[in-house]
Amino acid sequence: MIYNQILVRFGDLTLKGKNQKAFLKSLYKLFSVKMAGLNVFIEYQFDRIFIHLNDSNVDDVIERLNLISGISSYSFVLKCDNDIESIKIKSRELMDEVAKQKTTFKVRTKRSDKNYPIHSMEVTKIVSAYVLKNNPNLIVDVHNPNVYLDIEIRNDAAYLFNTHIKAMGGYPVGIAGKGMLMLSGGIDSPVAGYLAMKQGIEIECIHFESTPLTSIESAQKVIDLVKKLAKYAPNNKINLHLVPFKELHMALIDNVPESYNITIMRRMMYRIATKLAIKKNCLCIINGESVGQVASQTLGSMNTINSVTNYPILRPLCTYDKLDIISLSKKIDCYDLSIKPFEDCCTVYIPKAPATSPKINLALKYEEGINFDELVDWCVLNTNSITISKDSDLDLTMEGLEVREVIKDLKEQGRC
Ligand code: ATP
Ligand code: MG
Repeated sequence: MIYNQILVRFGDLTLKGKNQKAFLKSLYKLFSVKMAGLNVFIEYQFDRIFIHLNDSNVDDVIERLNLISGISSYSFVLKCDNDIESIKIKSRELMDEVAKQKTTFKVRTKRSDKNYPIHSMEVTKIVSAYVLKNNPNLIVDVHNPNVYLDIEIRNDAAYLFNTHIKAMGGYPVGIAGKGMLMLSGGIDSPVAGYLAMKQGIEIECIHFESTPLTSIESAQKVIDLVKKLAKYAPNNKINLHLVPFKELHMALIDNVPESYNITIMRRMMYRIATKLAIKKNCLCIINGESVGQVASQTLGSMNTINSVTNYPILRPLCTYDKLDIISLSKKIDCYDLSIKPFEDCCTVYIPKAPATSPKINLALKYEEGINFDELVDWCVLNTNSITISKDSDLDLTMEGLEVREVIKDLKEQGRC
């Protein structure tokens, strides 16, 4: 590989606000965490970062780079001395590498060193003429070239590059504060979590588990999904709160008319999630709801469900098409896990005809039959919190049938 560095850009728009300092601090920290263990040297500058590759495996570096939110794009760069002879020779070497077959190209020069003795246009002319003469595959096309050769002259060196690759975008994760992600084992909620992190929100996850009514594999699936999301987290770890939901779940099944079962179950989830979010200093709740997807996600349902809390609820996917959600799910490597067919509390006892336009007054009336305040508080109090790192090998499935028991044992043994 002819390139010796990667030039990383943050996007200038983001850098103009008051948050500039905090943005850079978070980004630098994220960089050092994500690049840890690789043989690279990271050079932090005010408006960009250079990764010196030092013979590291480029694919490994790129894989890590793609986990960092707040980066707008990157380029592979050949750094050389900034005298015109070096620029000519290195430009030719680079174009020889890129143009092994006939192709069109254009040179663009930028001087941030305004004292440089040759003007940008002149550098462009000299270098174009030189590489053209030496590489018969090249044809100049200034309007619509296949390849650009960008030359950036700074006072310490010249930087040559011809790629401009889109990165994750967004803001460094953590800069926006913390949110509580309602994580089911489905396709949507991990994607919602990823998008929230991309927007700068550090996440904790809450999962309502009804073991042994549901299988322990369904809780394991959630742990495995958290592992995937932890790759993007500030310290490669995410806290997961497993709410023992079975009792409340059974109380709903026994006491609530079938058509309002899901509505009231989700009202309970929102109540518990709000209490836990406050307890864990999360400033919002995030979930994977998408308007119209199922009965509980019509606008009418959302109103009735949402009315139990005044906490901000972010729904990053609310307007997304399922196909777009699936392609993001594949991109973050969650899809194969998400489609594993384990039931969770939303998929056992699915009512035949759930209300698509449930009324708040009816929901309140049906809730009168359950002592739900106590059950909600019990759920919050008995929630099992564990920290999952990206490399976690936690496996609940061999340990028992009920999450609460299993976690208690594992904690006693110091295994989680
Ligand atoms: P799917 O891809 O099947 O739609 P989903 O996770 O979106 O999966 P829904 O029934 O559509 O499942 O639930 C809507 C949202 O409610 C989820 O995205 C998730 O944020 C939250 N949710 C549902 N079930 C649970 C659960 N057991 N624990 C935590 N959050 C849940
Ligand atoms: Mg869904």
